Amino acid sequence: MVRDLREKMLQEMEHKELFEQVQKYGFAYVDQVRERNVFPTDDAIADLAVFTESLPQASGDAAEILALLHRYGSPATVAQTGGRYFGFVDGGVIPAALAARLLSDYWDQNTALYDMSPLASRLEEICEMWLRELLGLPEKVVAGFVSGSSLAIFCGLAAARYRIFQNNHWNINKKGFRGAPAVRIVAGRQAHGTVSKALALLGFGLDNIAWVDTDREGRIIPEKIPELDEKTILVLQAGNVCSGSFDRFEELCTKANKAKTWVHIDGAFGLWAAASSTLRHLTRGIEIANSFSLDGHKTLNTPYDNGIVLCDDKDALTQALHASGSYISHSGNRDGMFYTPEMSKRARSVELWAALKYLGKEGVDELVSGLHHRALQFKDELKEAGFHILNDVVFNQVVVACDTDELTSQTMKHLQQSGECWAGGAVWAGKTVIRISVCSWVTTERDITRSVTAFVAARQKAAGYRNTEQNVSGDRERSW
Ligand SMILES: *Cc1c(COP(=O)(O)O)cnc(C)c1O
Repeated sequence: MVRDLREKMLQEMEHKELFEQVQKYGFAYVDQVRERNVFPTDDAIADLAVFTESLPQASGDAAEILALLHRYGSPATVAQTGGRYFGFVDGGVIPAALAARLLSDYWDQNTALYDMSPLASRLEEICEMWLRELLGLPEKVVAGFVSGSSLAIFCGLAAARYRIFQNNHWNINKKGFRGAPAVRIVAGRQAHGTVSKALALLGFGLDNIAWVDTDREGRIIPEKIPELDEKTILVLQAGNVCSGSFDRFEELCTKANKAKTWVHIDGAFGLWAAASSTLRHLTRGIEIANSFSLDGHKTLNTPYDNGIVLCDDKDALTQALHASGSYISHSGNRDGMFYTPEMSKRARSVELWAALKYLGKEGVDELVSGLHHRALQFKDELKEAGFHILNDVVFNQVVVACDTDELTSQTMKHLQQSGECWAGGAVWAGKTVIRISVCSWVTTERDITRSVTAFVAARQKAAGYRNTEQNVSGDRERSW
């Protein structure tokens, strides 16, 4: 039986029909993704019921399995690569990076150690060097390649924790928190949820964090920063998830530097502004921070999942993420696992390298500034159509509202149902808002105009619905 299964799999490898078929499915997807419903239809979602069954007893047919995915899985995907998906901060995918990813999947490399994949190790080194150059960071900055910013933030803060305790003659790895000197965390009230998660995981306790007030764009108010010292970690943000705003790094990092405070910058999507000649002013001053987290899978448009931690203290990062075992051979070359919490992991450096190699400095600049320009266009056209813009569009995010919270949420509901484009909601400055994130290279000026038309149509529907309701209740006053 086992031999039969192996025989079957060997044949699948040899004949390659499976892979050819998958390529056709992929091509079919690419060919229709720009015109299909951005969010799956109710029917497509209902059809997902075909996947609900008990675990099969016997080995199945590979071609049938893939056909099932193509037929029912594909229509239930969100058309993230189509150009009119503005939800969350999810990027599209650069063809060269996607192709490199596909190739690397055939290789199936484990990048824990150099001895497991010299290629992945070398590409990590190259990416590390290129990222430093692109973002204008000092030579001593090292990189770890992780699944996303959630983990990159965790790594940066783990390095900070290790270094600060070590400076105070306390080995946190060995001794833990009991009896440890007090370390203070200072972060903005608008810090991303994953910052809180990382701090909680690291044992700092959310009640112990000094949350600093932020201004109307979500930036830390510098005057509200408490006294800093060498036992403090200051968490700053490049790119607020709603407004896209950036903390004032020059002022804050200089102040922190003087006090010997560790600075971590959560720059998941915004740190890429440093790679744009026209947007670089937003990140001025970051080069003296200690650790950074960013994503390849957002602004840079690599495939998922692709995150990076950067740290100017290699010893702290690698000690904080230390692992050992008699079989773990230090090669003297770069062993990726010492820069990340994971041991085994796929070769994310392949698609990151391909994206950077393909774009070059000019291409990254064009990509990043292009997202900004289309966000500005979105803002202008929405304003023209009578929507309220609640943020200063400094990067790729636009915060939109109608005249009332109720109208905004109904408009969003109709917009999401339209299939024309997709944007999510949030609460911003106490108001219900629609949050737009322009972060795919595919999005054209026409996509923006078409999406604004969808916004207007959704608001019309929402107003109609509202008026009918009001008519029923006898209230005829129009609210917009
Ligand atoms: C997306 C995001 C994160 C989390 O990153 P993941 O890659 O989803 O783990 C953290 N901070 C900010 C500002 C983000 O936009």
